[in-house]
Amino acid sequence: MARKFFVGGNWKCNGTTEEVKKIVSTLNGGDVPSPDVVEVVVSPPFVFLPLVKTTLRPDFHVAAQNCWVKNGGAYTGEVSAEMLVNLDIPWVILGHSERRSLLKESNDFVGDKVAYALAKGLKVIACVGETLEQREAGSTMEVVAAQTKAIAERVTDWTNVVLAYEPVWAIGTGKVASPAQAQEVHSELRDWLQANTSPEIASTTRIIYGGSVSGGNCKELAAKPDVDGFLVGGASLKPEFIDIIKSAE
Ligand code: PEP
Repeated sequence: MARKFFVGGNWKCNGTTEEVKKIVSTLNGGDVPSPDVVEVVVSPPFVFLPLVKTTLRPDFHVAAQNCWVKNGGAYTGEVSAEMLVNLDIPWVILGHSERRSLLKESNDFVGDKVAYALAKGLKVIACVGETLEQREAGSTMEVVAAQTKAIAERVTDWTNVVLAYEPVWAIGTGKVASPAQAQEVHSELRDWLQANTSPEIASTTRIIYGGSVSGGNCKELAAKPDVDGFLVGGASLKPEFIDIIKSAE
């Protein structure tokens, strides 16, 4: 079954109201392939979600960058899945490497979050990826398989999951994975899904690549058969995000 190309823009902890309005205006004016060809989701910081949601073109959607692992309550500083649903935010990014490393989110914690968010009706961009040290030690697949397993143990319906392979050494460094490196891991992840979930889940789940994707390198990456799109950080704040979306064609 054909997997629709997916392009996510992770704005991380960036932006002022004025800057956000400017990015939205650039996106709204962009000439991009139809939503039948590419699904586009941008993820501003929580505080800008309502602004972006109400001003963004209707063929693009929004994602939160995180949500709490269970229902809200006495969890100062957290935002619950229920709140995102209440605000009609359809997507959430979970397990981003910055949260795994800086905030010590474990595989199990991320797995719990993914399961909870899905149960509440959110769609999830679930991130996995190895550090440079782990790659150099030859344990890339072991690491991403363990991260994916923590999700697979808790989730049976993968319809609303996009798996983002984001090698930590490529995020925000300008050192993009080569198309062959990305394809190798994506293909092994698909094999892992085939062996550990089902052939149907393996063939339909979109596996997107993230890590220093730019207007200049996206086409070659997108040409690989198991690269079903991108999660873009730095370049999603710039006009070249439009070129990245166009790599779907
Ligand atoms: C990211 O934050 O998910 C990311 C891939 O960042 P960048 O594109 O800046 O490497």
